[in-house]
Order: sequence, then structure tokens, then C-alpha cells
Amino acid sequence: MANETIMIIEDEADIRELLRYNLTREGYTVTEYASAEEAQDALKKRLPDLILLDLMLPGTDGFAFCRSLRGTERTAKVPVIMVTARDEDADIVAGLEVGADDYITKPFSARILAARVRAVLRRRAVEPEDASDTLRRGPFEIDRTRHAVTVGGKPAVLTLSEFKALELFVRRPEIVFSRYQIVDVVHGEDYAVTDRSVDVLIVGLRKKLGKHSDLIETVRGVGYRMRLG
Ligand code: CA
Repeated sequence: MANETIMIIEDEADIRELLRYNLTREGYTVTEYASAEEAQDALKKRLPDLILLDLMLPGTDGFAFCRSLRGTERTAKVPVIMVTARDEDADIVAGLEVGADDYITKPFSARILAARVRAVLRRRAVEPEDASDTLRRGPFEIDRTRHAVTVGGKPAVLTLSEFKALELFVRRPEIVFSRYQIVDVVHGEDYAVTDRSVDVLIVGLRKKLGKHSDLIETVRGVGYRMRLG
């Protein structure tokens, strides 16, 4: 039985109630707030295991709140799933760029909500393992010291860019990365790059993953994610 605490920040009472109902049923402890300001006060006392953050809030909106969470040492690592009524690519990309881990669009299905929450919490649970030099997950084994990769036990020869992109995906499975985030990791922040060059990088990387190539999923209009079941 899950016993993690999930903080819901949502100004619409009926949606808040729906979120609470579904998450409580999954065994989570839920705290709820109608504004970022109320949530901010509660965060001073206790950190939740995950925050579900509505984007359009009165007062401080979800973008600004997420940015401030990430910019504060104490809250920088609390996972955030943003909840947006607007199924618009631009909002989703902007949310991911201020540091959200994933997103759910309203209206959401109970199953998708539960799956996204579970995936984000699971990733958080495995994070300490990431401190070691070798990352093993799914068919991948990534040796960060030697910059060597095996896929399904077979060595894969990757370029440095492909290596960095694969490491990003495998380290954080299920999380959607925008093209800008991928570029940041691969080339550093000031590198001028086009969406197209990221797509070309992914095409090359997929080729080298052979029969595992479809583990890198294209999220239309947003970016890419690694599916590791
Ligand atoms: Ca709202």
C-alpha cells in the first residue's frame, strides 16, 4: 500500500475533489490547497513526496510557482506533475522547461493519473542508485566512467551526443524531455540548435538501439521520453 503524501494545488474545487478521490483510492495521503500561496505556507512545515500543480491559479500561477520550487534548495527535488486544462503544446513545453517532471491534461482519466504519479514516484525512489558509475535499467547498461553502453548485453558505439541523450533518458524513464532540455544536456546551454537537429540525433540513437529503438517514444509537439515499463 502506498503511503506517500501528495500535495494538490488546484483552485477548482470539483477538480481538486476528483484528484483527491482518485489518489486516496490508490492509497496516497493527500493534502490540498486552492492557491500557490497557501501551499507555500504548508511547504515550510512539511515536504510532500510529490506535487500536483494546476497551471492556471489565482495569484502566483503554476509556472511561477514551479520555477520558485526549483530555485529553492529545500524544494528543488520535490517531483512536480503539472495539471493543465489547456492541451496546448506550448503550455506543456513551458511547464517542462520550468522544471515540471511530467504533465496531465484535464480532463484526465483516473488510470493515466495513477500511472503518471506512480512513474514519477518510482523514479524518485530509484534515484540514489544513480550515484554509482554504472546505470542499469531495462536493456541498458551505461558506464559513465568509461562512456560505454551495452544494449541487451551487446556493446553499442554511440557518439558523445547520443551517449548524453541516452543517459538522460535512462536515468529518468517515463519523463518527457522537450527538445530544448535535450539540447541543454547534450551541448550545454548556449549552443544554437534547431528542433530538427535534435530529431536527427534521436533518429541516429534509435538506429543504434536496434530492436529496442521503440523504447524512445516521440511525444508529438513536446519531445521524447524513454518507456521502460
Ligand atoms: Ca485553475
